[in-house]
Amino acid sequence: MIRSTSHRLSIIDAAVRLEKLGLNKGTAGNISIRWNEGFLITPSGMPPSRVHPEDIVVVEMDGSSQGSRKPSSEWRFHRDIYAGRPDVNAVVHCHPSFCVALAVLHKEIPPYHYMVAKAGGRDIRCAPYASFGTQALSDYAMAALVGRKACLLANHGMIATGTSLDGAMSLAVEVEELAEGYWRALQLGEPFLLSDEEMASVVERFASYGENAQENHGDRA
Ligand SMILES: [Zn+2]
Repeated sequence: MIRSTSHRLSIIDAAVRLEKLGLNKGTAGNISIRWNEGFLITPSGMPPSRVHPEDIVVVEMDGSSQGSRKPSSEWRFHRDIYAGRPDVNAVVHCHPSFCVALAVLHKEIPPYHYMVAKAGGRDIRCAPYASFGTQALSDYAMAALVGRKACLLANHGMIATGTSLDGAMSLAVEVEELAEGYWRALQLGEPFLLSDEEMASVVERFASYGENAQENHGDRA
């Protein structure tokens, strides 16, 4: 408990920042970081400004939890991401406006801008719809995240991951900006897309310097 206090505070700080950045409102969205054999996650149904360190919930990989609060209803996809993706140490889930606008149309973010490669590949996929909190939603999200660090969730929102909480937060901001740029471009016509070769080259360049430099600091479990 004592050792995890700084991690708990960093989750609360990130949740408050997410709201200030306009990426999330009220009790929607949730944030976690890998911790020991499981992870620490925001509690269910509490606005970030009211969350105290002791409200952050410890969840084990079998889904059992410790703490006075219930974990976020989306703990399943957080758990499955940590189980299936050793490269991920933090997960940010939110409902930002432009991601939601695309997600309700079941639209992915295609390679209309080279920064799409920040999410790890040529596009940012949109996972099919399933009810919040279900294993089906987690399964769809895991499939949409193969080879990617972020995805949209149909009729719902977005997931961004990172090797650190700072990295996941930066990517969440980036994905919403990309969703906005794509949405705005769609008002004028059909955007030109970059080739698979060009996107592969940008992914490689990001992997070899920018991303690592940016993500090698911040809170780690
Ligand atoms: Zn949600």
